[in-house]
Amino acid sequence: MEGNYYVCTGCGLLCDDIEVELEKDSVSKVYTACRVGVAHMKEGSREAVSRVDGKPAEEAAAIEKAAEILKNAKNPLIFGLGTSTNEAQKKALELAKKLNATLDDTSSFCLGPVVEALLQEKFNTCTLDDVRHKGDVMVFWGADPSDSHPRHLSKFSYFPRGEQKQKGWEEERTAIAIDIRKSHTAKICGSNFFQIPPGGDTEFINALIDGVSGKLPKTSYKFPPKRLLELSNMLKGAKFGTIFMGLGLLYSLDDLDPIIRLVEVLNEKAKGEFHLIPMVGHYNMRGFNENLFAETGYVNCVKFENGEAKHGPEYSTVEALKAKAVDAVLIIGSDPLASLPHSIVKNLLDIPIISIDPCETLTSRKAKVHFSTAVTGVECGGSATRMDGVEVKFDPILETKRPTDEEILTKIMEAL
Ligand code: SF4
Repeated sequence: MEGNYYVCTGCGLLCDDIEVELEKDSVSKVYTACRVGVAHMKEGSREAVSRVDGKPAEEAAAIEKAAEILKNAKNPLIFGLGTSTNEAQKKALELAKKLNATLDDTSSFCLGPVVEALLQEKFNTCTLDDVRHKGDVMVFWGADPSDSHPRHLSKFSYFPRGEQKQKGWEEERTAIAIDIRKSHTAKICGSNFFQIPPGGDTEFINALIDGVSGKLPKTSYKFPPKRLLELSNMLKGAKFGTIFMGLGLLYSLDDLDPIIRLVEVLNEKAKGEFHLIPMVGHYNMRGFNENLFAETGYVNCVKFENGEAKHGPEYSTVEALKAKAVDAVLIIGSDPLASLPHSIVKNLLDIPIISIDPCETLTSRKAKVHFSTAVTGVECGGSATRMDGVEVKFDPILETKRPTDEEILTKIMEAL
């Protein structure tokens, strides 16, 4: 691409075609991005702030305090990093090893199991560029990208002309939504919206497996078999099909076996090939999962002990907090106090919190030590892993006095 294009880190799509106009030292206009991206790209150009006990402090003093807290902790937790660069994530990994800490991210209570199965090659997957160029059938299942990844349909999955899809959505692409409610994406899918009851996904998957295998599909909630056969035939006719799996589907399943089986059966019975891509939301959650997986063989919920990684649900942030098993926490780019249930996060308030975040959040305001850092993609560069596993590098748009997450993590490590 010619010209100055920037990468938006507003969601897992990491759109790399963003143009901006600057006025003084801030972004005044943003082109190409969605509404989420525009708001995100206009963040930045704020002063660096470090705090200790809620009061402004020199960065060096805050670093010293953070190091003291972590050194004195018997079982510290490092959490977050889904909105940090790959470089910062690797630094946090080093720090977790050095501290014998528990290391986890939001994927332990969202799409982590799907990314783990993907990295273990338990199902067929592809890139978003493959979908753009070749995709003819796309299924949005328990996912609403029109809200969560606003340019998903226009840039990759439904509306664009691709190399082998020049006629586009009008003639060559079929978008299907399976959901418990008529989401914005489901509205775009029109008559290809299949509304199922909450918790009805496993049965629906099994009925589809029957349908594509030539048996009469049935569900206990009496989903019309005719519609199920219609859908089975659409899936079977795909030359390049993709299921975009959202949290709505994951939360409804006891385990991943049924959906993995469906992808397998579709690859046996469909005209072409079928794939599954998890709808990762945070711009670099997949990067965290891949970086940790490369080092330990796990994507989250890890506890280091003398360089060795132990893994289990007890090392997830939720379980560790519930059990009061951690005695200090370093949170990078996440706001668990606002996003997790009070019954779990109330225990956070009993232990010292160190927060590294470009934004002021409930968590940053309750932190013993807080560092405001540069907004990635706007005030600092680096690399990240897109929701489909493609590495994307980006440059900063603005100069800032704010340090990066990586710089703060490096300084804390040096001060230990
Ligand atoms: S879709 Fe996501 S990455 Fe693309 S512009 Fe919108 S927020 Fe940014």
